[in-house]
Amino acid sequence: MKIKDKNFVPFISAEEINDRVAKLAKQINKDYKGKTPLFIAILNGSFIFASDLLKEINLDCEISFIKLSSYTEMASTGNVKELIGINENIFNRDVVIIEDIVDTGNTMKGVMGEFKERGAKTIEIVSLLVKPEALVNAIDIKYVGFEIPDKFVVGYGLDYDGLGRNKKAIYQIKS
Ligand code: 5GP
Repeated sequence: MKIKDKNFVPFISAEEINDRVAKLAKQINKDYKGKTPLFIAILNGSFIFASDLLKEINLDCEISFIKLSSYTEMASTGNVKELIGINENIFNRDVVIIEDIVDTGNTMKGVMGEFKERGAKTIEIVSLLVKPEALVNAIDIKYVGFEIPDKFVVGYGLDYDGLGRNKKAIYQIKS
C-alpha cells in the first residue's frame, strides 16, 4: 500500500485488532466492576480504537475526548503540548486514558501529570500500541494492545501526513 511517498505492508489484521480490543474491554470490565470510570480518549488518533473498545464496555461510564494543541515555543525545551477540551470534573474520578500509540511516552507523561494535578483518584492508560524500544519515560501502561517494534505504522485511526486513518487494519512502513 502506498501513501504519498511511502510504502506500507500489512502488519496487524482487522481480525487480530478486534480480538485484542475485545480482550482489553473484558479486562477493564472486570477491573472496574462497581465503579463509574471516566474514559478520556486522545484525539485524533484514538477515535476508532476508542469507539470499538467502548462498545464492549458494559460499565456505567462517562466518555470524553481531548486534543493536544500543536507545539508551542516551549516544546523544544521538553514541555508537553497543552490539553484542550477537558470540561469534566476530574477530581476524585477513576480516569482511563485511551491512546492509540505510546512512542516515547512524552505525551502520556504530560497528560497523566495534568490529571494528577486535577485530583484524579486513579489514572490508568489503555493504549492499542506501545513501542517499548522508543519509550524514554518510565510510565506504567496497564492495558496494552500490542507491543510493536520502533517502526512507523498507519491505519485504524493512525495517519501518515493526514492519510490512512480510515484503514481497518494496521500497516507498517516498508524499510
Ligand atoms: P509519544 O509522545 O509517546 O512520543 O508519541 C505519541 C504520539 O506520537 C501518538 O499519539 C501518535 O500521534 C504519534 N506516533 C508515534 N508513533 C507513531 C506511528 O508509528 N504512527 C503514527 N501514525 N503516529 C505515531
